[in-house]
Amino acid sequence: MTAHVTSPDRLSHARKAAAEAGVDALLITPGPDLRWLTGYDALPLERLTCLVLPSDGDAFLLAPRLEVPAVHASPAGSLDLEVVGWAETEDPYATLVRRLPGARRVGLANHMWAEQVLRFREALPDADQTLASGVLRDLRMRKSPEEVDALRRAGGAIDRVHRRMPEFLRPGRTEREAGREIARAILDEGHVSVDFVIVASGPNGASPHHDLSDRVLAAGDPVVIDIGGTTAEGYCSDSTRMYTLGEPPSEFSAYFRVLHEAQLAACDQVRPGVSAESVDAAARTVITEGGFGDAFIHRTGHGIGVESHEDPYIVAGNATPLEPGMAFSIEPGIYLEGRHGARIEDIVVCTEDGVERLNTTDRDYLVLEA
Ligand code: ZN
Ligand code: ZN
Repeated sequence: MTAHVTSPDRLSHARKAAAEAGVDALLITPGPDLRWLTGYDALPLERLTCLVLPSDGDAFLLAPRLEVPAVHASPAGSLDLEVVGWAETEDPYATLVRRLPGARRVGLANHMWAEQVLRFREALPDADQTLASGVLRDLRMRKSPEEVDALRRAGGAIDRVHRRMPEFLRPGRTEREAGREIARAILDEGHVSVDFVIVASGPNGASPHHDLSDRVLAAGDPVVIDIGGTTAEGYCSDSTRMYTLGEPPSEFSAYFRVLHEAQLAACDQVRPGVSAESVDAAARTVITEGGFGDAFIHRTGHGIGVESHEDPYIVAGNATPLEPGMAFSIEPGIYLEGRHGARIEDIVVCTEDGVERLNTTDRDYLVLEA
């Protein structure tokens, strides 16, 4: 099994960023920030597991004693990181606070459970609480070459599932039946978990986040297939392609051309220095000029890494300039309520002089046997 992609540098970069942001300590409970910082994919449990990263001291990982072997078996075990096991009858919050005297401002993992946020408020009554993303967002958003490699492999894995779609989509089967086999293929083709499977046939295609239903696939249906998983390296895939069972309605083919052109225009816009929102505008302009502006009802994309949705968001209002290493989706859609819909989605990465697409299957819709 391939190990999580991680690096000891992340802890020191995060500590430095915390100091610059005036945060005395980051408190990181299980979730994407902990995975990114240490490679430890901890179970989210009621028992407290928390990475403590003081801005001017050594990091340590507080974990229930029974979880300590799992910490050592994870990539966190090979980092220079003290692991503090707490006993079943001990108050872990008190243990943690004793080691953080005088903290005035703490950064909490964005995915921390509310009950833990409140326990920390009680245990550190003089400390302001803020979100760890204020410190970690910029670090996680610019992917290292190793992270881009991991995302490239995740992209290849989901592309292999799309190439197998003729096995799964046939008239007479339900979306759920097809979805079950697609989920198995996501695991077979190089992921360790299935994050989502959208099989949106016919009118269901007009709902961007429709997942699976008992609707029976029928001849003439356009079908939106949006699938993603997480690889053993800890990085996510996400790609949407369109399939039709036999020839689709002519109305569909007409707006699909507009969508295809919009997706291309947005990809062409990506290079260092342009804003995230200008990539959204590039897709939106084509769709609006094609007469379907009201049918493109979501942002153009989202960042991706150890989470399938993270910064940067490709949306009007986000003036963040793109930088090499930023990875995100470009996924414009056109949705006609009650009829059908279409979306094309690639993960792309901003390079030194332009863009690399991490999904490389044909972007045209694929006509399957009906
Ligand atoms: Zn998607
Ligand atoms: Zn997506």
